[in-house]
Amino acid sequence: MARCYNFCAGPAAMPEAVLRQAKEELMDWRGRGLSVMEMSHRSDEMVSIATEAEADFRELLGISDDYAVLFLQGGASSQFAAIPLNLAEENSVVDYVNTGQWSKKAIKEASRYAKVNVAASSEDTNFTTIPAFDSWQLSDNAAYLHYTPNETIGGVEYFWTPESRAPLVADMSSTILSRPIDVDKFGLIYAGAQKNIGPAGLTIVVVRKDLLGKARAITPTMLNYQTAAENDSMYNTPPTMAWYLSGLVFKWLKAQGGLQSMEVINRRKAEKLYAYIDGSGFYSNPVEVASRSLMNIPFVLADAKLDKAFLQGADDAGLLNLKGHRSVGGMRASVYNAVPEEAVDALIDYMKDFARENG
Ligand code: PMP
Repeated sequence: MARCYNFCAGPAAMPEAVLRQAKEELMDWRGRGLSVMEMSHRSDEMVSIATEAEADFRELLGISDDYAVLFLQGGASSQFAAIPLNLAEENSVVDYVNTGQWSKKAIKEASRYAKVNVAASSEDTNFTTIPAFDSWQLSDNAAYLHYTPNETIGGVEYFWTPESRAPLVADMSSTILSRPIDVDKFGLIYAGAQKNIGPAGLTIVVVRKDLLGKARAITPTMLNYQTAAENDSMYNTPPTMAWYLSGLVFKWLKAQGGLQSMEVINRRKAEKLYAYIDGSGFYSNPVEVASRSLMNIPFVLADAKLDKAFLQGADDAGLLNLKGHRSVGGMRASVYNAVPEEAVDALIDYMKDFARENG
């Protein structure tokens, strides 16, 4: 069996050690004679798996008891609606910053449930920059301020945290667990699992407890944070297998030395790829240098007519899923935690060869 290197933006690469352990435990979880997939979510076994996963996640990110951690379904996209329904009144103003395709989707959905003020936008630079904080037009009375710390499609990442009187809400889908963060600066953090957390099907919400209990009466029960918190995310059947596998990923991250170690590795991986792209004279990345994502690295070839050959050759070389998002074209290498440094080295070698042959 030869495993390829997977640069998919999500569902993304999983740590090999986690896949091996899952295989080992698939038929018979720790001598209990059944698979995790077959356990009641209310069984002692599953509750212990769930509790341990939450404890490890809290430890990795340094999450205090002031916050609830919710293990939900519906993807980050459901949170685009859940956030205004739980945190804002129908007539409330909510501030959003528009730095790309995911911000836009969040804004569009929130506009159905509250009065959105787009406090800043980088659309005028085709989403290759982050608007300077002193240009943000924040509302005096916003129910919250929402931003997207890492735009998965554009490859634009904040390396600073906005200051806000209103609770700060962050879509961390494609940056969570890639480096340490100060959770205390946030009112709410959410992330779809299928990048740095685990398999698709799970969505994690970290919410400050004083923000619970304010959902509008019309909020669907399944989107109500208070309901999820009161029921330990088991109001209904949770995605048990994804929760278990995410727990294995958290153990793996701890064994790597936690998020400080991941940041060192992730910076090294991203810096070498950007350095090669910038110096190549054949590939280019349009994002302002200070805001280049550590996780999602888009690039274009000197001639878009070569894209097909580039992707075919990459696939043949065992380098998968390098095609850019359909909305922007070009290429994108997603280099999440589970993508090893050797994968980036192999990609750069392939890019060098391709440029030499086609430049
Ligand atoms: N926000 C960001 C930043 C994303 O990258 C994605 C998925 N690529 C989403 C939201 C949507 O996530 P989901 O598919 O889990 O709804």
